[in-house]
Amino acid sequence: MELIFLGTGTSTGVPQLMCDCATCRSDDPRDKRLRASALVKVDGLNLLIDCGPDFRTQMLSYGDNGNLDALLITHSHYDHVGGVDDLRPYCTPDGFPLYCKADVAKDLRDRVPYCFAEHPYPGVPHYAIHKIDSEKPFFIKGVEITPLPVNHYKLEIVGFRIGKLAYITDAKRISRQTVKNVSGIDTLVINALRHEPHISHFSLSDALAFISEVSPRVAYLTHLSHQMGRHADVEPKLPENVRIAYDGMKIYI
Ligand SMILES: [Zn+2]
Ligand SMILES: [Zn+2]
Ligand SMILES: [Zn+2]
Repeated sequence: MELIFLGTGTSTGVPQLMCDCATCRSDDPRDKRLRASALVKVDGLNLLIDCGPDFRTQMLSYGDNGNLDALLITHSHYDHVGGVDDLRPYCTPDGFPLYCKADVAKDLRDRVPYCFAEHPYPGVPHYAIHKIDSEKPFFIKGVEITPLPVNHYKLEIVGFRIGKLAYITDAKRISRQTVKNVSGIDTLVINALRHEPHISHFSLSDALAFISEVSPRVAYLTHLSHQMGRHADVEPKLPENVRIAYDGMKIYI
């Protein structure tokens, strides 16, 4: 299995518009962070996790010119779904498969209602929505995927476990059940916004506490804000099994 980080930034991306801090001015490519998303290649399937407003740029830069078989959606915030209209080249007459919870499906119908019209305008994207239950594993062509419910302030959203990989973003609180579901996992991807606490996102110390509880072989931090600082300054201070992900980074699981 392979994972390509298509984006590792928080909702504003890095550099952030109108900011001239050291991170936003950095010329290290690892400090250029598009909105959080990942491409997982498993058993011949290309699964996209989240489809934010940078989707098209991300696929052109890091997508390996690959096909996509399905989109897994963690939640309906704009930085995770703002690019769904750009899925149109992947849509077939049966509809491009989207896997998400019922609340996300409802939000999508509100955001891009023209895609769900009874008589859609010619050429608009056509989706096939597969509603998932956050408590139940589901399958895409034989690949088992386990939703990992986590709390994002008041919103219950999901991460995904696929084999030895767990991908969780935008978490602020994680239930005992989800900790159990990822305990001892090989590769953990987890959000860490910045050093200071935040109401709806893990800070760096929240993420490190979760990592030490789960004890993965290796963990990658994603959904980073410019306030996290520069990759070259922060990563050397982290525990040995914790890396900071960057856009275009490819890992093998
Ligand atoms: Zn987000
Ligand atoms: Zn900045
Ligand atoms: Zn969010």
